[in-house]
Amino acid sequence: MLRRLGVDAVEVRKPEELEGLDGLVVPGGESTTFMRLMRLYGLDEAVRHFQGPVLGTCAGMIVLGRDYLGLVDIAVDRNAYGRQVASFEADVEVAGDDTPLRGVFIRAPRLREAGAQVEVLAELDGEPVLLREGRFIVSSFHPELTDDTRVHERFLDLVEEETGVRA
Ligand code: GLN
Repeated sequence: MLRRLGVDAVEVRKPEELEGLDGLVVPGGESTTFMRLMRLYGLDEAVRHFQGPVLGTCAGMIVLGRDYLGLVDIAVDRNAYGRQVASFEADVEVAGDDTPLRGVFIRAPRLREAGAQVEVLAELDGEPVLLREGRFIVSSFHPELTDDTRVHERFLDLVEEETGVRA
């Protein structure tokens, strides 16, 4: 998705690979595995010190939240929409935008609580599923799995604001 938007995207697995990057995406996957490996490689501390905008999707949202890296003031319940078979797609309502966004929810986390600084960007049935706190954007769904580029563009807007760099 980022490459489609003209971004020079690289994969990050080790702390030193974060150096010089203008933004970071913590993707979906399995948050327990992410955290185990991030601790092993010291990537947890490196991400804590990373200064640029960060987009966390699904497991990435969990990792950025209160229970793990503590960078975004949110508490989530993992897999709270059900097991793998209960994964689903649904239209989510975007604040300030008449066109809904198709959300792909795969064993998605569900927001339990958010701090006062956290802004709700989109909701599913009245529950926040896309949020922003400062330079952090988190989504409980997978915005990279549809053709809709709005979430990534929003993230790139933050990158542009922080660095003056635009793809
Ligand atoms: N269930 C996963 C977790 O708890 C998240 C799933 C996903 O990223 N699609 O980490």
